[in-house]
Amino acid sequence: EEAVSRNFIEQEIDKDLAEGVYTEVCTRFPPEPNGYLHIGHAKSILLNYGLAEKYNGTFHLRFDDTNPTKEDMEFVESIKEDVKWLGADWKDHLYFASDYFDIMYECAVKLIKKGKAFVCDLSAEEMREYRGTLTEPGKNSPYRDRSVEENLRLFEEMKEGKYQDGEKVLRAKIDMASPNINMRDPVIYRVAHMTHHNTGDKWCIYPMYDFAHPIEDAVEKITHSICTLEFEDHRPLYDWVVRECEFDPAPRQIEFAKLYLTNVVTGKRYIKKLVMDGIVDGWDDPRLVSIAALRRRGFTPESIKMFVELCGVSKSQSSVDYAMLEYCIREDLKLKKPRMMAILDPIKLVIDNYPEGEIEYLDADNNLENPELGTRKLPFGRELYIEREDFMIEPPKKYFRLFPGNEVRLMNAYFVRCESYETDENGNVTVVHGTYDPETKCGTGFTGRKVKGTIHWVEASHARQAEIRLYENLVDEEKGVYNKEDGSLNLNPNSLEVRKNCFVEDSFGEALAGDSFQFVRNGYFCIDSKDSTPENLVFNRIVSLKSSFKL
Ligand code: ATP
Ligand code: MG
Ligand code: MG
Repeated sequence: EEAVSRNFIEQEIDKDLAEGVYTEVCTRFPPEPNGYLHIGHAKSILLNYGLAEKYNGTFHLRFDDTNPTKEDMEFVESIKEDVKWLGADWKDHLYFASDYFDIMYECAVKLIKKGKAFVCDLSAEEMREYRGTLTEPGKNSPYRDRSVEENLRLFEEMKEGKYQDGEKVLRAKIDMASPNINMRDPVIYRVAHMTHHNTGDKWCIYPMYDFAHPIEDAVEKITHSICTLEFEDHRPLYDWVVRECEFDPAPRQIEFAKLYLTNVVTGKRYIKKLVMDGIVDGWDDPRLVSIAALRRRGFTPESIKMFVELCGVSKSQSSVDYAMLEYCIREDLKLKKPRMMAILDPIKLVIDNYPEGEIEYLDADNNLENPELGTRKLPFGRELYIEREDFMIEPPKKYFRLFPGNEVRLMNAYFVRCESYETDENGNVTVVHGTYDPETKCGTGFTGRKVKGTIHWVEASHARQAEIRLYENLVDEEKGVYNKEDGSLNLNPNSLEVRKNCFVEDSFGEALAGDSFQFVRNGYFCIDSKDSTPENLVFNRIVSLKSSFKL
């Protein structure tokens, strides 16, 4: 165990525990319930949950709902579902930040009493002017020296609804000359006459994020408050709030780099537009990387966990290739899932010397690399479907599949020799004819001669028609995500290909939404959870079998 390298956060935690700063570890995932979670959030969830597990600590799920905006609550359930699906079990540690409004108010009053906060009447515009710039210090507000008594009275009046939105704010009294602009008397409470989903009209003042968040962490006795890098220069304010409000033990903020995927759209604004324009089928369209979309696409929690671990935790911003995510799902499904036969672009193969109307059942391994998955019986008969690309009239060199005169192995079945073919009036091949050799039955140990090609097939009268959806990147990878001129997305017009006339083995009778399979030679597929029915099977291609990604 000792030899296993620790990421920088674990090293910090080790140190804190060794020095007795904390005696146990408590982490949290604090989503704002204002949208669906995406792969980046998955990283944060699994990181926080993983640390709690590793240190035998506690993991909290806390909805950061201090902003009284409307649409929020509908996302709470979807977020819970996603966090649960990822396996991050918060047990009975589910919290809502809005439950702490009273405590936050008390903290503000405490700061006023300590002379550490004041009510300010400057307008937003004036405050911007007073704030200064990166190179110039700010100026003190003319209201900065109000007495404690006056501040207490005005803050009380703010709470009672005596002032309009924007008329007054409560500011921390820190240092207008600080090189860190976040420390220049930041606003900690604002007036907002809005109804909150949890507290209704009880409040017309609401805490700002930088004030609320450290209090939420401290109240829950979070030890390590892990967040992304953009909060690094908010840390002094975080620490100031915790210290001045006199919380003990103090939670500690640690920042890590956000997870970015190359050539992938994650911006809420952009996804919303794609949904509204009908370009994607909702927030869970399998081409997106929301957690709901990844689940629908057929990704597993294990594969996402593997991905997040491979990405590692770091302080430097970088972007990860989607191919790495694909690598992880292939690795996860490889031994777990049965390998079935499905024809994505069918053409008929008629075996002319096979008795008409007869069906035999052949044994097939479900997964050659994992015997534990057992075997199944495959119907075989005179008429089969094969892939159109497995037959050519005039093959190029090194084409070992079917062409007139050539013999191939039908996977799990017999050798078959191509004898002839039929075409329609346009010259398109409609039927391939062949003959089989009964001696060559798979599993009999036939060694009389060899063939170079093996192709898959399904028996026509037992095959089930299915719709199969093939996905490519939503984004045109040549051009990059954003159009340089107008900031719009560079979309790949071929990101979805729907094949309605596919044929799959008839072994999906009891398969459930989300179940996944390997379709030999074609990739990994799952049953679409939204559109598939037992009568009309719909599969999503999770990922093809080939990979350009090397670990
Ligand atoms: P977005 O705007 O993409 O939804 P957000 O930061 O507004 O992101 P929050 O609900 O505030 O979303 O985030 C909850 C937690 O998830 C925060 O701790 C945040 O740091 C973390 N998080 C968000 N995006 C990423 C990412 N790309 N990589 C890692 N962690 C992330
Ligand atoms: Mg968010
Ligand atoms: Mg946020």
